[in-house]
Amino acid sequence: MVEGKIVKALSGFYYVQTPHGVLRCRARGKFRLDSLSPLVGDFAHAEETEPGSGYLFSILPRRNEFVRPAVANVDAIVILASAVNPVTDPFLVDRVTVIAEHMSCGVVICISKSDLDPGDSLYAAFSRNTGYPVLRTSAETGAGIAELRTILRGKTVAFTGNSGVGKSSLLNRIAPGLGLAVGEVSERLGRGRHTTRHIELFAAGDDTYIADTPGFSAFDLTQMQPIRREELQNCFPEFRPFLGRCRFDDCMHLREPGCAVRSALDAGEIAPSRYESYEKLYAISAQYKDWEQK
Ligand code: GDP
Ligand code: ZN
Repeated sequence: MVEGKIVKALSGFYYVQTPHGVLRCRARGKFRLDSLSPLVGDFAHAEETEPGSGYLFSILPRRNEFVRPAVANVDAIVILASAVNPVTDPFLVDRVTVIAEHMSCGVVICISKSDLDPGDSLYAAFSRNTGYPVLRTSAETGAGIAELRTILRGKTVAFTGNSGVGKSSLLNRIAPGLGLAVGEVSERLGRGRHTTRHIELFAAGDDTYIADTPGFSAFDLTQMQPIRREELQNCFPEFRPFLGRCRFDDCMHLREPGCAVRSALDAGEIAPSRYESYEKLYAISAQYKDWEQK
């Protein structure tokens, strides 16, 4: 029996990366009985029955699992934002950080095209008491690439960002083998390939795996379960020191008197754009009935 990571699922086979190479596996019947589907990203026990092929026996507990795309154990989402051509709306970034928090997934933020603009205001907002690593990267000069690689070492990650933000260019720097065509991200990684059933993790070296799948690049709240409005506050790490300190126990940190989160905002502990994103996401969540949320 060997332990490995499922790096690809295709036509009923699971490809398990083990220390000794890739095993092409069928799932043992038990998986169907347990109605448990192995996912790309799962850590699995497999048995080699013939050279290069075998059976999946069991999978280990998951850190998280995404539905579209169906990937498990995503350690971090790398979110790109740019201050130039096109300018990224910070709300787009914040809503992904919230999903990541909700999914127990780490966050890394890259201010891309930093050779053109250092993106100081984006940088300040994303880094203010969030704990998120925020890097200034440039696919043009190579700035920040080594640091990003270091942060991603040993992790399974997905990249996301608005179209034109420089995702393909950055991925090509990180993982030249992906061979992404710059300016064609929507074809290669985006909605254009949504029909593809094939999901694969790309080994980028240093034990870093990149989820090169449609869906992540087009990552947005519409494809996720709505997050309960009471849960949203926990998805902003910079709010956490102030939670439980408001005058009202059920304070939602909107307009209530004696709100510790609003005081922190006024004191500059929370970035205004992050708080605005909280308000917007709260308004979205409030449209759903409780039973529609988790
Ligand atoms: P994607 O849509 O997010 O995949 O973005 P692309 O990687 O296709 O890049 C969009 C455009 O931005 C292309 O014209 C790239 O040459 C340009 N670009 C990407 N990264 C950088 C960068 O770091 N610096 C500069 N100056 N231009 C970049
Ligand atoms: Zn409050």
